[in-house]
Amino acid sequence: MLKKTIESLNPYVPEVPLADLEKQLGVPKIVRMSANENPFGTSDNVRQAVLNWNFNQARDYPDGDAEQLRQAVAKFVQVDPDQLLFGCGLDEVIELVARTFIEPGDEVLEPWPTFSEYKLHAEIEDAKIVDVPVNETTGQFDLDALAAAITPKTKLIWLCNPNNPTGTYLQPEAIRDFLKKVPANVLVLLDEAYMEFVTEVAQPSALPLLKEFDNLVLMRTFSKIYGLASFRVGYAVIPKALISSMQSVRLPYNLNTLSQVAALAALQDQDFVTQTRQRVATARQAWETFLTQQGLTYYHSQANFVFFNAPQAEQLKDYLLQNGYLVRSGLRPDWLRITYGSTEQNQAVQKLIQTFY
Ligand code: PMP
Repeated sequence: MLKKTIESLNPYVPEVPLADLEKQLGVPKIVRMSANENPFGTSDNVRQAVLNWNFNQARDYPDGDAEQLRQAVAKFVQVDPDQLLFGCGLDEVIELVARTFIEPGDEVLEPWPTFSEYKLHAEIEDAKIVDVPVNETTGQFDLDALAAAITPKTKLIWLCNPNNPTGTYLQPEAIRDFLKKVPANVLVLLDEAYMEFVTEVAQPSALPLLKEFDNLVLMRTFSKIYGLASFRVGYAVIPKALISSMQSVRLPYNLNTLSQVAALAALQDQDFVTQTRQRVATARQAWETFLTQQGLTYYHSQANFVFFNAPQAEQLKDYLLQNGYLVRSGLRPDWLRITYGSTEQNQAVQKLIQTFY
């Protein structure tokens, strides 16, 4: 018999492949600006590493511990290699967190709106999800309200920083103050999928807080700034006391060999990361200037996308799609999320928005 909760789930539905959408709509070329990928592609280092890969390894199982990648990431983020858990994208890490820690009846806290997978996996585990709305004006998390929502049943708290879809960013100091209010038996999951895009402060990550708090898990992905979404590599830095239970829940070969090769090559090209961050910052500035000129309300983003209040959002989305640009709606009524594209793409979309209104 199907679990009762499964019937009522509202799962993430992957987007229709662009080629199918183009055919369906009769639009010759559609640019995806809806999935927060890297508009500037992928490091050439990755192309070389993948092309140089020894195909004879295809018949071998991957290294289940991703040892080479583990050592490199550990050195890069300066943590013990034994604290790292890799997943088939952060999607898998989120699922693993839910499967390992949530029991039916637990409460899971999250700001709202945020990344939808947290809720989905809490619901699969029969937990009660408690949404704490973000500040309506700024889009920032209401950390006081989040702390006040903690009850004896609270098991997990999700914090996405910068947050998807609002793009808002919290400095490590604010996170530290919040963590001091969280009981030690409540796990805080800090999703830093977009952290590398932050330009507001020089050391934006909450990584140093891992030394202070035993109930903090930090998550990163190669899908965003590294431009490797198709390879599916994400990882979490996990307190030592918790990692062995998570390792025993995960599949033994969850990271294929070529993905390990690609992620390692991507990590080794930090120039690409720096360049992407700068180009994204330029795009961000251009979008904020445009939205201000249009009189459209937006949240100040530190990620590679902007979330803004768009009257007749669904009609605007359709209009953009007919003209070759796919953006994201449905995250909040009358708001759209647009992933920054190249300068040309951004200007084209901005012109279309101007024409629409
Ligand atoms: N966390 C956040 C906040 C995201 O936006 C995404 C992807 N959209 C993910 C995690 C999952 O990323 P991936 O599985 O590609 O690593």
